[in-house]
Amino acid sequence: MNKAKKLRNDCFALPQGVDWTPLDKALSHLEKSLTPIAEVEILPINQAIGRVLAGDLVAISNSPPFSNSAVDGYAFRCDPTDASEKKVLDLKEGRSAAGHPFSGVIGSGEALRIFTGAVLPSGADTVVLQEDISFQNGKISFFNSLKPGSNTRLVGEDLQTGQLIASKGDRLTTFMAASSISAGIKEAKVYKRLSVGVFSTGDELIDFQQNLNAGSVFDVNSPMLTSLFSKWGVQVTELGKVPDNLETLRNKLNEASETFDVLITSGGASAGDEDHLALLLNKEGTITEWRIAIKPGRPMAMGFWKNTPIFGLPGNPVAAATCALVFVRPAISKLSGGQWLVPQAFYVSAAFEKSKKSGRREFLRARLAGDKVEIFKSEGSGLTSGLAWATGFVELPDDDVTVKLGDKVKYIPFSSLDL
Ligand code: AMP
Ligand code: MG
Repeated sequence: MNKAKKLRNDCFALPQGVDWTPLDKALSHLEKSLTPIAEVEILPINQAIGRVLAGDLVAISNSPPFSNSAVDGYAFRCDPTDASEKKVLDLKEGRSAAGHPFSGVIGSGEALRIFTGAVLPSGADTVVLQEDISFQNGKISFFNSLKPGSNTRLVGEDLQTGQLIASKGDRLTTFMAASSISAGIKEAKVYKRLSVGVFSTGDELIDFQQNLNAGSVFDVNSPMLTSLFSKWGVQVTELGKVPDNLETLRNKLNEASETFDVLITSGGASAGDEDHLALLLNKEGTITEWRIAIKPGRPMAMGFWKNTPIFGLPGNPVAAATCALVFVRPAISKLSGGQWLVPQAFYVSAAFEKSKKSGRREFLRARLAGDKVEIFKSEGSGLTSGLAWATGFVELPDDDVTVKLGDKVKYIPFSSLDL
């Protein structure tokens, strides 16, 4: 398969002459330069839930489709000029129940038995609650206090034909689909899920099912990244690990770039002699070394192999996870046709003290404790135990900062990152 290039060559470029690029600069560049690469299909609205919309959803019909009763009671025509204290109406023969409209007309001085959700019969505009009436000799009577329209739901009061329900780029939620169905929408134009292949690189890596050898470590990243990406609306395939060997790596890239829309790798992405992925992309593909001023973070590589975009994450699992959350999650959303994602953060009182120098953004592994937030006992960026302990990040700004007990700090729960 010969893939057409869908992204600009410079979409992963960074400002020249800056040693470590500030995070906001890097993010805003990615946001501006990435465009959807996913294809479009049409799905029944219920099967489109979770997909990114490729077109607006607009109400096809009114909701409710007809004016109806909001309660069980009696429908009548309200006369706001009638000043009498008590209203006495002739009870008409028949009824209007949900799904069984009444075909006659309600004249003035008449009332009809009606139930919740039933069509408001012609001539009636108001409903009196069944608990509020008394019945005698074929007549109902009640205290004359209702305004016209009381206890009814007007046609289109929820949604009117032509009204926008959800916009292109929104990820269709259950509730957006529910609202769409109530307004007669049958199907949605959506982006196909991107197919993403994930593999790790490194001679030292061992599959977790196997036993360690001298000098080996378990491959944490393949299963971790596969799990992360599976939560972000793409179709992800775990491709295991590849040794630090140019030939093998080249074969893997050739094969995977034919099969997947996007590749995610980890390890070997810096600019050293043992960074085989970076070496290969430099020689035979396209690569930008992403040196971003964040902690934890290590250089990552973004580039192309035969027109397939590649995100080359650092090998250290904590750095790989952080880069995946900070850069790749919003980038994948954009490539999927969705919006650039900015995680929802909250300001919470610090249960810790810390000072940092200016120059880079810090993401501390953090955990809510009551209405305060604590940070992990060690900042060692290689510690997966800190990730496992955390319920989110505390994000400290680029400038120098001194956090004292009780100061408000920015907390990003993992749930804001769809984890
Ligand atoms: P690299 O980015 O390849 O230089 O790797 C940096 C560090 O992360 C080294 O200590 C690697 O052993 C470790 N590492 C690389 N890939 C993985 C992986 N998939 N799982 C666990 N640790 C890894
Ligand atoms: Mg390595």
